[in-house]
Amino acid sequence: MGAFFVIFVVMAMSKERLKEELPIMEFFYTIQGEGYHSGRAAFFIRIAGCDVGCAWCDVKESWDAGAHELKSISYLIEQVKNVNASFCVITGGEPCMYDLSTLTAALKNENIELAIETSGCYELKGKIDWYCFSPKKFKKPVENAYSLADELKVIISHPSDFEWAESHAKKVNSTCKLYLQTEWSKQERFLPLIIEYVKNNPKWKISTQTHKHMNIP
Ligand code: SF4
Repeated sequence: MGAFFVIFVVMAMSKERLKEELPIMEFFYTIQGEGYHSGRAAFFIRIAGCDVGCAWCDVKESWDAGAHELKSISYLIEQVKNVNASFCVITGGEPCMYDLSTLTAALKNENIELAIETSGCYELKGKIDWYCFSPKKFKKPVENAYSLADELKVIISHPSDFEWAESHAKKVNSTCKLYLQTEWSKQERFLPLIIEYVKNNPKWKISTQTHKHMNIP
């Protein structure tokens, strides 16, 4: 499925409708497995639709927004409240392809702490508490992703990715937390390299996908 098709599907859904309803691949209450908030109970909302096209993407089924049901914001809020979650992670797909202002306002109205996981390829429309920026080589991020980033998480799947990670680290705020994470399928090869890199460059921390070790979503 090409990027043009994804964009077409997203545009075909009226802007107003998308503010009230979003294509949702899945939602679940679990433990955040990676990055700064690793170990915290979190309600995940995975919004469908992505045109970034990472070769190693582990949620390719999220790419086609049209393959997933639209869910109303009020329905999503009800699900979050049902489990008494106090922290919500909006992920994808690429969630910033959508205007998230209604969703984020509704969640904040329930005093839910909000984080977003994004490639930074689209402007954020909505208010969140934590912006996890994970740039991808396959599509350039927008400039203000760097100033918004609370957390920079770079996936390492090639030796040249360390240099690439540093090029992004130069552009984020000094308070931004820096993480290196190996691509899951290449963990055996790259984790030892990341460990050595972090020992020599301690401004970085290691992020591992602990949820996969715990066998939870
Ligand atoms: S940005 Fe995320 S969802 Fe989109 S292709 Fe890359 S890894 Fe997959």
